[in-house]
Amino acid sequence: MSEAPARLVQIRAVIARAETDAGRAPGSVALVAVSKTFEAPDIEPVLAAGQRIFGENRVQEAQRKWPALRERWPDVELHLIGPLQSNKAREAVALFDAIHTVDRPSLAAALAREIARQGRAPRLLVQVNTGEEAQKAGVAPQDADAFLAACRGEHGLPVAGLMCIPPVDQAPGPHFALLAEIARRNGLSMLSMGMSADFETAIELGATHVRVGSAIFGHR
Ligand SMILES: *Cc1c(COP(=O)(O)O)cnc(C)c1O
Repeated sequence: MSEAPARLVQIRAVIARAETDAGRAPGSVALVAVSKTFEAPDIEPVLAAGQRIFGENRVQEAQRKWPALRERWPDVELHLIGPLQSNKAREAVALFDAIHTVDRPSLAAALAREIARQGRAPRLLVQVNTGEEAQKAGVAPQDADAFLAACRGEHGLPVAGLMCIPPVDQAPGPHFALLAEIARRNGLSMLSMGMSADFETAIELGATHVRVGSAIFGHR
């Protein structure tokens, strides 16, 4: 039997406690259950347990897995949390309800085109590379304001928020605080930050969406 539903209940309890501890309203933090690498038999028990927001990091994998699941659970909300190539913008706009990884002008332009063409607008978040790591996607913190202005101006894209993945070898708090500050000064309300190991810290620092995978589904 799947242990995921029990883990889900625990994670929800920890989120609720973290909200209270931070003086935040109950239910102000959305849980994105990260189901990447897991197949339908592992995801179904989590859907049956009431979870409705899921995160995937690859367009093709999500296209393969989710249409059939959505027939049974039509109110599912699907978030893309992995890097997106501009040539997959069409599929991504068609499939996802939120895209957390907008990070360059060519992608912003491709998304704007597809949103206009399809008449479907996923919520968009700009990924910020808060640790300025060479191998990591995202705009550099010092370029974030200009990129956000270009998304909103030049590309006419309504950006909803920001996302970050702190460096694995550093305390996450300062990265979450930096992301929250960039969001504040740009008037953005959605903050996607915090994973299995650090979502409580993220909630303390203002996360509205935490992306939790292994703590629910187990090791990948
Ligand atoms: C895989 C992944 C997660 C979930 O990570 P866990 O440590 O398993 O909770 C969150 N965010 C992104 C961007 C990911 O790729």
